[in-house]
Amino acid sequence: MSSIATLGSHCALQVLKGAKDEGFKTILVCEKKREKLYRRFHFIDEFIVVDSFAEVMDQRCSNILKENNAIIVPHGTLIAQMSSAEIESIKTPIFGNKWILRWESDRNMKEKLMVESKLKIPRSLSSPSEINGLVIAKRHGAAGGKGYFLATNEEEYMKKRDKLIEDGIIKGDSDLYLQEYALGVSAYLQYFYSELSGELEFFGVDRRYESDIDGLGRIPAQEQIDIELIPSFNVIGNSPLVLRESLLEEVYAMGERFVEAAKRLVPPGMTGPFCLEGVYDENAKFTTFEFSARIVAGTNLYVSGSPYSSLIYDEPMSMGRRIAREVKNANSKNSLSKIVT
Ligand code: AMP
Repeated sequence: MSSIATLGSHCALQVLKGAKDEGFKTILVCEKKREKLYRRFHFIDEFIVVDSFAEVMDQRCSNILKENNAIIVPHGTLIAQMSSAEIESIKTPIFGNKWILRWESDRNMKEKLMVESKLKIPRSLSSPSEINGLVIAKRHGAAGGKGYFLATNEEEYMKKRDKLIEDGIIKGDSDLYLQEYALGVSAYLQYFYSELSGELEFFGVDRRYESDIDGLGRIPAQEQIDIELIPSFNVIGNSPLVLRESLLEEVYAMGERFVEAAKRLVPPGMTGPFCLEGVYDENAKFTTFEFSARIVAGTNLYVSGSPYSSLIYDEPMSMGRRIAREVKNANSKNSLSKIVT
């Protein structure tokens, strides 16, 4: 029986709790500064203490993980802190399809996969001179919304871009991706695709609370104008949401199209958890502005199961536990190669 490992951040607690519940040994690759926090949780069996997460590629880490027959569950921190090439070079088996993580990090590849999935997406702009209406400027990679900003014309864009350069957050235009701002109610749709059963499971929905854009509504319009704030979209936490039941059919259809497109473009495809991120407009039509091709932190809400996972499983099923269950099922069918890369 293998063990399950992850990096100490993002959704590590949920992933390792789920792994423990499914009977696995659990391993945390933990930065020294976070060790005290994670030692509080007794379902973590072994710690590999590092100075930085990049050490997960080193011989010492690889050897310990190999001795434990470990599988790494990738999450947002891995993507935020390591390049695609570095992730692909990790010798320890990674749960899911590690090749698709590059498609998440690279904005152009990301757009291609969303188009291939026939998702409705906001128009992207190739130059600030094309700005003609409300746009959002986003940084590449899993920046978690930090340093993003809104603009309605080129001049405003330049002003805000220059401030980010001054603050050392970006180097120039090439660090930013411009996309039309999609208006509506945000929803982050969490799925799990099982390569073993060929079934797509809809696991839950969350909304993000982002600072300081989500705090602005508490300030009257006059003060908003007076303080000349450039709001950012830095994720602070998540809150739950359930959808009108009539929306579920399209939720499954979008997820299935994504799984099929990923099979064509990035073999072996979208194995395991993923998330389609976007907004519902006034006609309840969904525009997808992003996807995550791995577990998202919004699933941390549902450690004891979600309103949707409870319809599929008669036991508390978190996304972390679902991942571990897939590894267990693959082990018993001798099909581990189908679910790790
Ligand atoms: P992302 O890194 O793309 O997930 O974006 C971070 C946050 O920026 C999201 O959670 C949204 O609040 C916001 N956002 C990103 N893209 C768009 C868009 N095209 N329209 C509206 N809001 C967006």
